[in-house]
Amino acid sequence: MNQDELVEIAIEVDGEAAEAVVELFNRCNGGDWVEDSAAGEASGGGAVLESTGYDDLGNPLAGEYRMVVKTYLKPGPRGRRIQRKIEEGLWHLRLLYPMPEPVARIVKEEDWAHAWKRHYKPMRIGRRVLLTPAWEKPEPLPDDLVVRLEPGMAFGTGLHPTTRLCVAALEEWIQPGDSFLDVGTGSGVLAIVAAKLGARPVWATDIDPLAIRAASENALRNGIALAPEILHIQQGSIPAGQPGRFQVVAANILAEVLVGLFDGTYDTVSLAEPLAPGGRLILSGILEEKSEIVLSAAARYGLKEVERTQEADWVALVVRRENAE
Ligand code: SAH
Repeated sequence: MNQDELVEIAIEVDGEAAEAVVELFNRCNGGDWVEDSAAGEASGGGAVLESTGYDDLGNPLAGEYRMVVKTYLKPGPRGRRIQRKIEEGLWHLRLLYPMPEPVARIVKEEDWAHAWKRHYKPMRIGRRVLLTPAWEKPEPLPDDLVVRLEPGMAFGTGLHPTTRLCVAALEEWIQPGDSFLDVGTGSGVLAIVAAKLGARPVWATDIDPLAIRAASENALRNGIALAPEILHIQQGSIPAGQPGRFQVVAANILAEVLVGLFDGTYDTVSLAEPLAPGGRLILSGILEEKSEIVLSAAARYGLKEVERTQEADWVALVVRRENAE
C-alpha cells in the first residue's frame, strides 16, 4: 500500500445508530464524514457534510434517513490499531443497534480530500438564488443570483438544510438597502446572498479565523467589495456598540448557542441588541425539539415569532422586534 493511499471504512446505518457510529469514529479517529443517501435523492446532490470540526451542526438527522458514515485511516501500525478499535466498538454497538458489517476499501488520499466535491453541484434555493461551487459552470436563468462558493474548511456550502432555510428566509425578508448582520458567517454564504439581494451594509462575524478567511475570499470571488458601506467582515461574535443598527440579522448556529447569544453568555452584548425596531431576526441551526428554548429566549428580549420553516428535523425561526416595546 502506498503512502498516498488511505483505508476507508464505511458503514450504512439509520439515523439513530449513525449518531453512535459518528461518536465512535470521532473518538477513535478524529474527524468523520457523513453522507446522507436520502437527501441525495431529495436534493439531487447529496449532503456530504465536510464536518471536520463542525460535527455539532453536522450531526446526522434522526428518523427515516439511511446514512453512510465513513472514516479514513492512514496505512501503518497506528492505522491498524485504530481500525481494530473501531471494529471492537462496532461489535459493542451492534448489541444495541442492528447494523451491517463495515466495508473497508483502499482509496487515494487525493480522492478523500476532494470526495465531498463530487456531491456538491449547483443548487437552486428559494426563487432565484443559484449556489454554485467555485469550480462549476452553472447555467443561470436571467433573474438568477449566482453565488460562487469555495467553502474550504468553513461551514456553509448550502448542502446543509439549516443554510438552505436561511437563504430562503433572506430572499423573503431582505429589501434592497436593508442593513444586514450575519453572526457565524462560516463560508460567508448568507452575507454574500444578502449583498446580492441588495442589502447595504452587510456585516459578517465569526469566532473562527478560518471562516473569516474563507468568507473574505468568497466575497471577492463574487465581486463583493470588502468596504465598510458594502461588506464588513470581522472576527468575533455579536458586534458591540451597534444597537438597533440592522434591519435583518441572521444566526445559523445551534439552539444552545443561540440561547447563549441572547443571554450574553459569550459576549456582553445580546443577539437582540443590534436588531432594529421592526427588524427581523432569522434563527437557524435548531433541531425541531429545541425550538421552544430558542423562542423563549427570544421572548425575553421582546421578540415574537413571525415565521417558522422546516427541512427534515431542522427548523428556522424568524422573530420580530415590535416597534413599541
Ligand atoms: N452562516 C453559515 C455557517 C453556519 S455554521 C451558514 O448558514 O451555512 C456556524 C458558524 O458559526 C461556524 O462558522 C462557527 O465558527 C460560528 N460560530 C459558532 N459559535 C459562534 C459564536 N458564539 N459567535 C459567532 N460565530 C460562532
